[in-house]
Amino acid sequence: MPRALFTSRFVPTQVEELEALTSLSDIRFMEQVHGNFVAVVDNQDTQTPTADALVTTVRGIGLVVRSADCLPILISSELVVAAVHAGRKGVTNGVISATVSKMRELGGENFQALIGPAICGQCYEVEEVMYNEIISKFPAGATSQDKHALDIGKMATFELEAAGVNVTHHGFCTKENLDFYSYRRDKASGRQVGIITL
Ligand SMILES: [Zn+2]
Repeated sequence: MPRALFTSRFVPTQVEELEALTSLSDIRFMEQVHGNFVAVVDNQDTQTPTADALVTTVRGIGLVVRSADCLPILISSELVVAAVHAGRKGVTNGVISATVSKMRELGGENFQALIGPAICGQCYEVEEVMYNEIISKFPAGATSQDKHALDIGKMATFELEAAGVNVTHHGFCTKENLDFYSYRRDKASGRQVGIITL
């Protein structure tokens, strides 16, 4: 059974501390750039990839996504797991469908996604022009024209379900809930993590 967890602001997230927390000895991070590159992780190459999704079929490797308003998404299946960094740019860049495609390529099926703490659809206001442009392509993200706040969680849920993935949404808003880091609230903020292992 894959294991997945999300930390709060009060859980240290250095590699040694995550090893202690999870009892895993091989934990992998990624250099996140709001893109759609999916890095497949195995025992051979232990360098930190520049990517916004990590995928593995190797048991015992912990895949980490760091976030502070963007959506951390952990996707599990019997043979493949993934950690995805999916903010506005990642979702609109197609990181979700790219990840699920890669997982299928590697033999995965019956996917379950957990969406972790992220900024909610009431708090994520963007410029009106950007709002209209994005909801024209991703109508699931629409909230109201008055506020032009994007609901990235609903956009991601739509993309995941369209790719045949069952979704559970954690629901906590990082900006409203002081248990979590929020870039929008704190500017200079730390990052909580989502971690998954097969
Ligand atoms: Zn909120």
